[in-house]
Amino acid sequence: MYRLSLGHESVQKNDDLTIHSDSQTYVNGLTKHLAKWEDEGYINSENTELLQATVVSLRKREAVTTLHWVKGHSGIEGNEKADELANEGRLKEDCDEFNLNIEQNFQLSGAKLCKITQSLAYKFIRQKKMKTLTYRIALDRRATRMGIGRAKACASEICGKTPTEGMLWKSLRHKDLGRKVRYFLWMTAHGGYKVGEYWNSIPGYETRGICQHCGTSESMEHILFECEAPGQKEIWEQTEKLWDNKPTPWIKPQFGILLSCGLTDFKDTDGNRIPGDSRLYRIVVSESAYLIWKMRNERVINERDPLPSRGVINRWLWTINSRLGTDLVLTSRKFASAKPGWSPEISRAPGASGAAGARCTAANIIM
Ligand SMILES: [Zn+2]
Repeated sequence: MYRLSLGHESVQKNDDLTIHSDSQTYVNGLTKHLAKWEDEGYINSENTELLQATVVSLRKREAVTTLHWVKGHSGIEGNEKADELANEGRLKEDCDEFNLNIEQNFQLSGAKLCKITQSLAYKFIRQKKMKTLTYRIALDRRATRMGIGRAKACASEICGKTPTEGMLWKSLRHKDLGRKVRYFLWMTAHGGYKVGEYWNSIPGYETRGICQHCGTSESMEHILFECEAPGQKEIWEQTEKLWDNKPTPWIKPQFGILLSCGLTDFKDTDGNRIPGDSRLYRIVVSESAYLIWKMRNERVINERDPLPSRGVINRWLWTINSRLGTDLVLTSRKFASAKPGWSPEISRAPGASGAAGARCTAANIIM
């Protein structure tokens, strides 16, 4: 969009102009959907400010402007050069200044009343609220900045490119993650659970910030990856074992990796994506972390006795198999004609019985 917006500025206003872009979204948007977007006050559009600025600068032109879609990464000289420049721009440490101010004459505000729906109205109110200073201050939490910072660092180490904050927040709502797991990750990213430091500032409750098992300061990272209470160690060992048969190298989960697991994108040695492995990793890591959290709460809040190692493993197997079973059903419905690429009864935990016995293993799911 940025390229599209800047591309025509070096051409005289009264000269005809043809813009070639590989962005179908914006070419179609500007040629087919613009009236709808404007009627709806751009509520459903992304990059609204840049989009509006682009529309205004194109409208100010006095000659014909033609937009053409071209296939990206197909060796077209201008397109390849534009990609190169975009990549250079992405690696810049300081953002370029870009004037997004719109002249009063071209300013459109709000949506047409006849086009507004209840859903659009809610989105509009939400967008307005999110722009207020009070909301921005409330969002600017130290714990959130730390959580997101660590997730970005891990994602860039694994994927080779640093995701934006928007990409990270969106990844927490990845469709592969269960509804409760999404909420758990969102709360964890915000440091929203009442653990560790939260209790330090409440007189008389300081001891709640200490791990009852280890006697050290508790944090979500401690609970999920360091605590010596039965649970986390056994569960992470099982996840690693589950990966044994995979050609993709196992990435040991840690706090930042958990928060960025929605961005997992494994590739083979030829650089081809392995979506099945990425999907499996997302599910197994997030479900395992959520199970450790639930077991800690049962132990600390509900004062239940810790499970023995075998009990922990059985419960993990049941959790993962249930989740993968659901995934399989959903996948089978979607691709009803496709034959399942897994065997329904692969492994069973030693000593496990009934529901705790494994119905299938994650390693045999083929996505
Ligand atoms: Zn502990």
